[in-house]
Amino acid sequence: MTDAVFRNFIDGRFDEPSATFDSVDPSTGTAWARMPAASEADVDRAVGAAHRALRSDLWRRMTATARGKLLVKLGDLVAANVGRLAELETRDTGKIIRETRAQIAYVGDYYRYYGGLADKHEGTHVPVDKADLDVTIRSEPIGVVAAVVPWNSQLFLSAVKLGPALAAGCTIVLKASEDGPAPLLAFAELVHEAGFPAGVVNILTGFGHDCGRRLTSHPLVSRVAFTGGPSTARAVVRNTAENLAYTTLELGGKSPVVVFADADLDSAANAVVAGIFAATGQSCVAGSRLLVERSVKDEFLARLKRKAEAIRIGDPQDPATEMGPLATLRQRDWIEKVVAESLTAGGMLVTGGTRPVGSGFYYAPTIIDAGGSDLPCVREELFGPVLSVLAFDSEAQALALANDTPFGLASGVFTSNLSKAHRMARDIHAGVVWVNTYRAVSPLVPFGGYGLSGLGREGGLDAIRDYTRSKSVWINTSDEPIPDPFVMR
Ligand code: NAD
Repeated sequence: MTDAVFRNFIDGRFDEPSATFDSVDPSTGTAWARMPAASEADVDRAVGAAHRALRSDLWRRMTATARGKLLVKLGDLVAANVGRLAELETRDTGKIIRETRAQIAYVGDYYRYYGGLADKHEGTHVPVDKADLDVTIRSEPIGVVAAVVPWNSQLFLSAVKLGPALAAGCTIVLKASEDGPAPLLAFAELVHEAGFPAGVVNILTGFGHDCGRRLTSHPLVSRVAFTGGPSTARAVVRNTAENLAYTTLELGGKSPVVVFADADLDSAANAVVAGIFAATGQSCVAGSRLLVERSVKDEFLARLKRKAEAIRIGDPQDPATEMGPLATLRQRDWIEKVVAESLTAGGMLVTGGTRPVGSGFYYAPTIIDAGGSDLPCVREELFGPVLSVLAFDSEAQALALANDTPFGLASGVFTSNLSKAHRMARDIHAGVVWVNTYRAVSPLVPFGGYGLSGLGREGGLDAIRDYTRSKSVWINTSDEPIPDPFVMR
């Protein structure tokens, strides 16, 4: 029996769902809530509402300053509701409460940041090379946005889409993942409370093959903002062949963390452990490939093993817990399969590789000494608490190993040598390089990947531009009659 029912938010109202599915608490493996399964018809209603809102005077004529105030209010509401939202996210995804609380508190700042930027985004005037013609370039909202997010950090991944999209004056239909959608459906109540006009923000959940496909291929959608895995991204790009929507993709990673012998090894070990075991490794920026200088490898691995084995695993709602379960059983099956294949292929288990406690989807912090870079655990994004370790003997070899992946989302470099840090930061193929730190993010800083890690950037000033399109307005300022029409001016 489940004790909670969630609803989609479409056109300013919470719908009674026509179809539902069970959501499972990953810490127990049992269903705890019913979620609405949006149909293609529901998607059509949501996109229709967003399209009407886009053209409505209420939204179109609202000043950018007023839009910004709504976003700031939304940020304040998120901050005021951290406890409830965090509890729901922890319940529905298994992410530990101390992480959900901290992350959601910061989500409020993302809305405030984009609220502040809303009326600072301007068009331009061009000193055009033609007499008596005046050109202004208006920056206009691109249109209806379809945003699709995965289950990890849904509130955060939505904020980097909703914030700039609403600041730019777009309207949006946001699809929560079918895994763990509770926090986003609860967040819809705050959107309602903030006072956005009906249809400006619509939030629903459902499955990828119908709801997600219809949303991203819908003829009234002009912009798709997708976060998820690369294979789903390919399906989304195929969907957008229908509507030719401008699309950005935030995808997965196999991020290297390079530890040189001259680094502060204790700091580096803490960063490596947090980089891979925070969020039970279910983070797009998880530092899942450790590249460590051979001269300190044994010592460094011993530190990591000690720290990994000391991690408190347990109930994600308990503030003392340091690592919770994986979000889905599917996820654990996949990780167990790749780890088994990697060990058969020659990987050496340093620690972990087991199911530690209880009936939930738990998996122990795992470290594999990979030897060579061909093992499946080195190549595949596991999206779990599995660290693969490779040794290097020179800076050139470290760089070659770091770049030996089709992904390029994040990376870390630990060294006390400033010039080496600069060289590595310049030459690593990744959208983010953290030097002597890891996992820092900010609304002020662009984020996104190289290669299979994605297309486009989220965060920072330029994100608003990605939700606008320019309109060039040419005005003839002369009173003279128009001359010969067959000569282009
Ligand atoms: P996923 O790709 O399976 O699903 C993501 C979303 O796409 C879900 O909402 C799903 O319903 C939807 N979807 C599925 N099929 C679809 C289709 N045919 N058309 C439209 N939508 C469809 O991802 P996941 O397993 O939920 O999440 C894990 C992945 O997300 C990992 O690869 C991870 O690295 C990535 N991720 C990336 C970032 C980033 O910012 N770069 C952040 C978090 C997660």
